[in-house]
This record gives sequence, C-alpha cells and structure tokens, in this order.
Amino acid sequence: MIEIDKVSKWYGEFQVLADCSTHVARGDVVVVCGPSGSGKSTLIKTVNGLEAVQEGVIRVDGVLVTDRKTDLPRLRAKIGMVFQNFELFPHLSVTENLTLAQIRVLGRAKGEAVARGLTYLDRVGLLAHRDKFPAQLSGGQQQRVAIARALAMDPVAMLFDEPTSALDPEMIGEVLEVMVGLAQDGMTMMVVTHEMGFARKVADRIVFMDHGRIVEDTPKEEFFTAPRSARAREFLAKII
Ligand code: ADP
Ligand code: MG
Repeated sequence: MIEIDKVSKWYGEFQVLADCSTHVARGDVVVVCGPSGSGKSTLIKTVNGLEAVQEGVIRVDGVLVTDRKTDLPRLRAKIGMVFQNFELFPHLSVTENLTLAQIRVLGRAKGEAVARGLTYLDRVGLLAHRDKFPAQLSGGQQQRVAIARALAMDPVAMLFDEPTSALDPEMIGEVLEVMVGLAQDGMTMMVVTHEMGFARKVADRIVFMDHGRIVEDTPKEEFFTAPRSARAREFLAKII
C-alpha cells in the first residue's frame, strides 16, 4: 500500500533523509522509531507529499506521490494523517470538524457526512461530545476526534506522527486503545511512536531511523529480542 524506494532529501546542505527504503503492505502496521532529529517526521510526511523529496520514488495505493503530475490534494484525501498536536479547527464544533472535509473535499451531502462522522465519533467513544468545541475537550479526547475525522474520509492508510507525545500520561492509553482497535480491524498504518507497548501489541515491523537513515527494518519480535544495530540496542535500552 505504501512504498518508499531509495528516498533522499536535503535541506540545503543538510541531508535529512538518506537512501530510505521501506514499505507497508495492505493491512500491516509499521512503527517508526529513533532518536529525536533522525528524520521520522520528515519521512512520514513524504508519504502524502507534505514534504517533497529530491531523490527516490514513493507510491501509495499505486499512485506515484513523487510524480509532479500527481494530484496531491486528491491523494491526501485518501490518506489519513494524525499529528502530535491534534489540529482540530478551534472555531468549529466536533461535528463540524468531522464533516468539513467530507463535504468540501469528497463532495458528500451534509446528512451523509454527519452520519459517517458520528459513526466514527461513536467508535472512539465520544458521541456524547458531538456539539462541543475542541477547547472543551481534554487532549486525549481531541486526539480521538482527530482520528475519527481522518477515518470519516475512508482512508486507504493512516499515518500517525507521535500522536500521544503531547498528551498527559493518563490520556495516552485511551488514544492507543483506539489505534490498537484500528490495527486489529486491518487498517494499513505507519506510526511514528516511542510507545513500545503499542509496537509490541500490533506492529508487524519496526523501522529504526538514525541520522536520516533507516538503520533497521525488522519484524517486531526480532527488533525487541535481537536488534541488529548497536544504535537500536542503545535506543531500546534508554526507552524501555
Ligand atoms: P524527527 O521527527 O525524527 O525528530 P525530523 O524529521 O523532524 O526528525 O527532523 C530531522 C532533521 O531535519 C532535524 O535535524 C531537523 O532539525 C531538520 N529539519 C526539519 N525540518 C527542517 C527544515 N524545514 N529546514 C531545515 N532543517 C529541518
Ligand atoms: Mg518528529
């Protein structure tokens, strides 16, 4: 579903991604981890074309993201993305947040958009909050609304960039629980996270990055029991 092939990217002289290749098969969950500044956010943003690359090829569901002729807004409508900082529209109610892109981007009728939005809101356990505004919700609740909003677009894959790292500890579990459910339902997911409990539970593979390189791309069991690189061993020793 997601194919990243020999991707390199520079900011001026600084190489932020160096010859990165990996993939996410349909229905798989790939967790991306690594030290701060190693290029995780940049890599995941290249998947929906939020960051352009100078070398290499990226495909999502057969569509070439790295082709200039590709209609990126249309592609992005098929790929759900959830960031660290929720990014709900503060001036819109939860229901309006859930329906705006469905109506504007997918051209759905309002009634249909509301019905779908509320189905997913129910799924993340927040149906009762449909008329509230983001500021009236906790961080964990806002992040669950952000996930519901992305799901309402019927994405072919979901990208997560440290979705729990801005949350108070007591709210991390409720967001991870929603993500575990999604993974178990067969969603294709690429997840930047340091939540290794989540990784152990649902990841198929772990990608470990360091200094813009994919140092390891390993089945989960192997990553936790016998990481190949010294860098990954060091990293694991620090966070587990
Ligand atoms: P991570 O998500 O792993 O912490 P990032 O992908 O955010 O890493 O960043 C990788 C590196 O690229 C960092 O050293 C960061 O400072 C640098 N970087 C990110 N965005 C820019 C930019 N717009 N211009 C220059 N350097 C950047
Ligand atoms: Mg990051």
